[in-house]
Amino acid sequence: MTLAWSRAPWHGLLPPICLLCGATGTTDRDLCAGCDADLPRNARACPSCALPLAAGSNGDCEYCRARSFSFDRAFVPFCYRPPVDFLILGLKFTHRLSHARLLGELFAAALAERNASPPDCIIPVPLHPLRLRERGFNQALELARPSARRFRVPLLADGLSRVRHTPPANPTGCRPSPR
Ligand SMILES: [Zn+2]
Ligand SMILES: [Zn+2]
Repeated sequence: MTLAWSRAPWHGLLPPICLLCGATGTTDRDLCAGCDADLPRNARACPSCALPLAAGSNGDCEYCRARSFSFDRAFVPFCYRPPVDFLILGLKFTHRLSHARLLGELFAAALAERNASPPDCIIPVPLHPLRLRERGFNQALELARPSARRFRVPLLADGLSRVRHTPPANPTGCRPSPR
């Protein structure tokens, strides 16, 4: 299986190229300023389910308000809309690891902008060994790498193990609404 590392092993030697339009990227990111400005940011979101909140709403959405969760907060910096869906689908289904690097860098930057305490460590959700063999890589691990580098925290790739093989998500990669 061939994994599509963009510009590897020349990454760092060639100028960054925007993965979305082919223009020159910013500093050392494969994204130009124009495409960066157009990304669908999830600016006002429910802290529990991360779905966008209606204008004027604060705190948990109506669905989450009546529930308790075993985590402190969900953070999803972008909405699943073009061109974010293109980057995610390219990563999952055509093995574009360059998309993982860009998405991971964008996630880390968005997390840093929140000025919250950095995480103690990062644990990517694992793939079942059967799925890992099919795909050849774990996209969650690839997405987590830039955050671990940026925050200088341990990346615990084996921190969890998936014991049940679940069927693949629907081909669009869209997550179902919790409602
Ligand atoms: Zn661009
Ligand atoms: Zn919610």
